[in-house]
Parts: sequence; C-alpha cells; structure tokens
Amino acid sequence: MVQKGPRPLVICGPSGSGKSTLLKRLLKEFPDMFGFSVSHTTRSPRPGEKDGVHYHFTTKEKMLAAIENGEFLESATFSGNTYGTSKRAVEDVRRTGKVCVLDIEIEGVKQVKRTDLDPLLVFIMPPSISELERRLRGRNTDTEEALMLRLNTAKKEIEFGQQPGNFHIIILNDNLNKAYAELREFISQNVKDVDQDKNDEAGQ
Ligand code: ADP
Ligand code: 5GP
Repeated sequence: MVQKGPRPLVICGPSGSGKSTLLKRLLKEFPDMFGFSVSHTTRSPRPGEKDGVHYHFTTKEKMLAAIENGEFLESATFSGNTYGTSKRAVEDVRRTGKVCVLDIEIEGVKQVKRTDLDPLLVFIMPPSISELERRLRGRNTDTEEALMLRLNTAKKEIEFGQQPGNFHIIILNDNLNKAYAELREFISQNVKDVDQDKNDEAGQ
C-alpha cells in the first residue's frame, strides 16, 4: 500500500513543453526537499538516460504483467510506448520524507486523481505548437514518426490542460527563467515545509 506523506507534485504538459528541464532545475536547487518518482517505460533510453534514475527501462511483456499484478498506481500508452508509476516508486520517495514529484501525461493524471494521493497539479504550457515542434526538433531525440505522434497528442493535451479544474496552475513556458520562477512561487505557497511535516509527525 502507498502510505500518505507530504502532498506529491505532479508535472504534466506536452512533450517538449519543458517539464524535464524545469524539474531538473527544481531537484538540483532543492535536493533534500523533492524526490523524483522513477517511472517505468517501454521506450528505449535516450543518450545520457540512466536505468533506475530517469526511468526503469523495461519490456512491454514485463510491464503488462506487473500492471496486471496490481503493482502500478497508473499507466498509459504514449507515442506507441507504455509508461507507468509503480506503487514502489512513490513509496520509495515517501519513505525519505521528501515531496514526491511525478512527471506524467494526462491519462496518468486522470488516474492519479482517483487515488488518495491528492497531488498538487501543475500543467506546463508551450507558447505554441510551432514552438513545441521547434524545441522537439532541437532536442533531437525522436524519429520523425515519433515526433509527429508527440505533436498530434500535444493538441489534445493542451485542451485538457486548459480546462478549468484539471490543474491547480498552468505555467506558460515561453521563457525558462520566468517559468521556473512561477513554479518556485507556486511551490513556496503550496508545499508545506518538509521539516515542519516531520515535526508534526513527532507531535511537536
Ligand atoms: P519535456 O520534458 O516536457 O518533454 P524538455 O524539458 O525535454 O521537455 O524540453 C524540450 C526542449 O526544449 C529541450 O531541448 C529544452 O532544452 C528546450 N526548452 C525548454 N524550455 C525552453 C524555453 N523556455 N525556451 C527554449 N527552449 C526550451
Ligand atoms: P518521454 O518519452 O518524453 O520521456 O515521456 C513522454 C510522456 O510520458 C511525457 O508526457 C511524460 O510526462 C509521460 N510519462 C513519463 N512517465 C510516465 C508515467 O509513469 N506515467 C504516465 N502516465 N506518463 C508518463
């Protein structure tokens, strides 16, 4: 069972909107406060991605069996691959007392909302589809086919992201420093100080 701890933080947004870039910065600035929920995926690692750090890279067969076995909090198919958050990934972070950060797409967000995790929900918005395409091409991590799939999905994701009630905040990432400052501000207003949480547990 996944136990309650500090309120998790979910970051969602179209592929290329800047989620990983913003999270990397957040985790670097506050390593003692936030812990990344390492998802499973059936996609191949990109250059520089480490198994067990960025993702648990796995096969479709193994992942479907684990999902069937009830080991996942949520899972979804994205751009032809399966992604999911295992209960263990969230539990591993919870045990450290840190705020668990999940980088997941919209179907996963819908599923997580039905659990008792009660996360803070952040949507990262790209300035436009054409800028998204420019960034994805610049990142140079996808085949043309995968890139097109990601761009097509982006339209549906942006629609979902903009619907009132789906997220607590929508952050426009037209400028990285500005977007990061907004994320930081949202966190400082909404994430309870982790040390305070430990004091509460100790009855102080
Ligand atoms: P995601 O994790 O949402 O798929 P990334 O963080 O990988 O997106 O960002 C996609 C690409 O866009 C990366 O090459 C990143 O360096 C770049 N990028 C992110 N934010 C900005 C920004 N505000 N302006 C320009 N380029 C950006
Ligand atoms: P990428 O292949 O670019 O790393 O991720 C593609 C998409 O999958 C992104 O929108 C990312 O947020 C999402 N994603 C990553 N891990 C998970 C997960 O565990 N569950 C779900 N539902 N989506 C995920």
